[in-house]
Amino acid sequence: MKRPPAFGLMFLVLFLFTCGKQSEKVEANKPTEDFKVRVDRFADLEILRYQVPQFEDLSLRQKKLVYFLSQAALSGRDILYDQNYKYNLIIRQTTHTIVEGYKGDRSTELWKQFMTYAKRVWFSNGIHHHYSTLKIIPEFKKSYLSELINNTDGKFPLKNGEKTGEFIEWLTPTLFDPDIDGKRVNLDPRDDIISTSANNYYNGVTQDEVDMFYSNMKDPDDTTPIWYGLNSRLVKEQEVVEKVWKSGGLYGEAIDQIVMWLGKAKEVAENDAQRKELEILIDYYQTGDLRTWDKYNMAWVKNTEIDIDYINGFIEVYGDPKGIKASYESVVEINDFEATARMKALSDNGQWFEDNAPIMDIHKREKVQGITYNVVSVAMLGGDVSPYSPIGINLPNSNWIRSNYGSKSVSLGNITTAYDEARSGGFVEEFGYTDQEKARSEKYGSFAGKIHTAMHEVLGHASGKLEVGVETPKETLKSYASTIEEGRADLFGLYYIMDPKLVEMGLVESDEIGKAEYDGYIKNGLMLQLRRLQPGEEIEESHMRNRAYISHWTYEKGRKDNVIEKKVRDNKTYFVVNDYEALRRLFGELLQEIQRIKSQGDYEAAKELVENYGVQVDKKLHKEVLERSKVLDIAPYAGFMNPHYKPVTDENDEITDIVITYSDDFVEQMLYYDKYYSFLPLENN
Ligand code: ZN
Repeated sequence: MKRPPAFGLMFLVLFLFTCGKQSEKVEANKPTEDFKVRVDRFADLEILRYQVPQFEDLSLRQKKLVYFLSQAALSGRDILYDQNYKYNLIIRQTTHTIVEGYKGDRSTELWKQFMTYAKRVWFSNGIHHHYSTLKIIPEFKKSYLSELINNTDGKFPLKNGEKTGEFIEWLTPTLFDPDIDGKRVNLDPRDDIISTSANNYYNGVTQDEVDMFYSNMKDPDDTTPIWYGLNSRLVKEQEVVEKVWKSGGLYGEAIDQIVMWLGKAKEVAENDAQRKELEILIDYYQTGDLRTWDKYNMAWVKNTEIDIDYINGFIEVYGDPKGIKASYESVVEINDFEATARMKALSDNGQWFEDNAPIMDIHKREKVQGITYNVVSVAMLGGDVSPYSPIGINLPNSNWIRSNYGSKSVSLGNITTAYDEARSGGFVEEFGYTDQEKARSEKYGSFAGKIHTAMHEVLGHASGKLEVGVETPKETLKSYASTIEEGRADLFGLYYIMDPKLVEMGLVESDEIGKAEYDGYIKNGLMLQLRRLQPGEEIEESHMRNRAYISHWTYEKGRKDNVIEKKVRDNKTYFVVNDYEALRRLFGELLQEIQRIKSQGDYEAAKELVENYGVQVDKKLHKEVLERSKVLDIAPYAGFMNPHYKPVTDENDEITDIVITYSDDFVEQMLYYDKYYSFLPLENN
């Protein structure tokens, strides 16, 4: 599971964990003075850069490991484009060719609009918005498309025998018509969510056929169930069949490259356990065998005695409305030991938090398993975390592996730092009501967010258990499963961030940290996050939904006691928390209910909660938020450019060093990736 940035109230205060003394390592996470974090701004997006200060301290062997894993990460880039939409690679090649070879005037408004479109496609790994999943409609007029194509030196991805005119005729509605494949992930329960979603995980099958296909595979008595369907496209030919993503199968050309680099990584692995684990991963990519994938995850999750770790595979299922099929993603990580040690305090007390949680006793875990929480510096982002990156990741996703073997939870320290740097200032000034609240947010906002994230990942996701005989949330709660799970983890953190236990443990200095988080969370959930939506849109994304239903539910339940108060000043709306203790009790109440929903698999209750509190948008308030945010010109979403690693070799071609550099030209990096990491054939050719 990923944790996307909340964009609540974050600040320039960059201490990773301010309590206790600040170590050099923590300082090292801070971008150096002259390092430019913000490099590009277009549409609703901003491009940032992250630094990898730890890289220079690595041994040559470790640098090689980072380099090989990074190459593996980038090698699967095409896969994600194709998973997102069947024509994405053709469209990307088209825009790429125009960016490189257009001979016309590049100073016009139209050209600027085209460049914005091209950059948005790179950012979203395809033509659908990375977050709303709606098709991105170009701003330039349709006729300009043929002007571009006809005045470009370069090769366009025409089908055999196709004329340029025919290509343009096909491409125009594909790009401009919102009714053709308009949404990548459609979760509307009134629709057939498979056939109305534009992603490429399914082809020609209906929701019923998907349900039938996978329910037939399931063995209800299996306590270690395979995640059937994880690594394949489901296609209707004469009958319904899976096309597995593996060497020699679908995406085989890209997978072979990944395998080649993983093989090199294996040679310089940090220990035997990592070597074995990489071997299993390679085996899985070669065979597509999902039992092998489980075996790999068990090996990966146990291996914690390392400086360099990574995520590589078909991981997250947000792109599939059924939550079955996983997108390609990869992260290469360097452990930040100093910051990690501070968080260990939380996981060491995991059982205390579980025992004292405000949930029903039958839903508590007797023994909280294997919670590890590492703060890492990202060295490379690939696939579904690039350029748009989460700030925390908790894996593996398979429930029974998590219960029996534990999970790895990482906070992406240098990414969070860059986000905070780029987001400082504006929002608090505009949306904060009292000076006291603003000052608190300024002082503690960033730190509070990090503590909440840590508790969400370490304690929240690891807490609670299902009642005997209840199927997994994916089966019982269906399309609500992931927003219920994210809400549960958020609530666990919200409930405990105000607990005196944190002060006692020395993790926070006072309850001011909790108050800062409550202010920020409620403001974000009730209004601020609406700036990420277009007028008329409803809330769809799991994390946004959970932030909305938690905030709206507590606002409504606390109304009679005025726990959260809506205020209007100079025609501007504010939400102010009047009673933090009461709000904490409400968080606890909702946590108990949401745990019950998960533990009992209560679909109706999940649906009611989410649909009543987490989906609808107050149009008037939405308009106000958009207007007030617009003035601040802070992009709703930010993504990241990667550093570049260049091996230095001697006369025998042996690598003697790896040099890290940072480019600040987003377009240049995307053109480079298109050129050197394109391994999939274009299906239409
Ligand atoms: Zn989460």
